[in-house]
Amino acid sequence: MKKNKKKANTNKNIQIRKSKSRKNKKGKRRLKKGIKIKLILIAIITSIILGVVIFMFNSGNIISLIKQQKISEEIIFDSVDEISVFNEIIGEFQQNRPAIKREIKYIVMHETGNFSSSANASNHSQYLLTNDNDENSWHYTVDENEIYHHLPDNEVGWHASDGLNVDGGNLNGIGIELCVNEGSDYLKTVDNAAKLVAKLLDLYELDIDDVKTHKDFSGKDCPTNLLLENNWQMFIDKIQEYMH
Ligand SMILES: [Zn+2]
Repeated sequence: MKKNKKKANTNKNIQIRKSKSRKNKKGKRRLKKGIKIKLILIAIITSIILGVVIFMFNSGNIISLIKQQKISEEIIFDSVDEISVFNEIIGEFQQNRPAIKREIKYIVMHETGNFSSSANASNHSQYLLTNDNDENSWHYTVDENEIYHHLPDNEVGWHASDGLNVDGGNLNGIGIELCVNEGSDYLKTVDNAAKLVAKLLDLYELDIDDVKTHKDFSGKDCPTNLLLENNWQMFIDKIQEYMH
């Protein structure tokens, strides 16, 4: 009897040990599973963060965001001396309005290079408002009679061919296009542009040295006519004359 009892006890002990070890194994498995899930989650989160950082670095945004702490105020006006300014701002969700706010440091001069007789400021405004094919955009177009305003002055436009360079024309400049349409009075266009630039320099407290050309930022021969012979100096002199 005693022997049988002993045997039964031993069997019971073995069963308890087995069930304990089963429980241990289950617990270890659960622990391993938990660690695995945590590791996978950490890997996913790290990849997402890395992806975002790489994307921002590639587009230059992170550098500009770090550097660009100041944002210029948005100012709208409807005339410069006797010249009308039509504010026809590109829609917020159009691809040619990046909607990146920034500090204004430069005025960047361009010429449209479009010699068609109908290529005046109004037609360029229509082009920008309806264009779905490319990202090109700038802030003002000036012709011999009037000025059209396309983007808020304190937002980036794609006009200087220099991406989002920290000190570049796109990121820091107000882009102004001069019309060169056939039959128009180019000298009157230049005079109107000088008045607009003088007003912008006064408004944003910029200096005459802050008036730049597309060529300064990307080497492109633009504004072609304004860069010929003494035209640039004449333009700068006019701006200074109109500044307050
Ligand atoms: Zn240009």
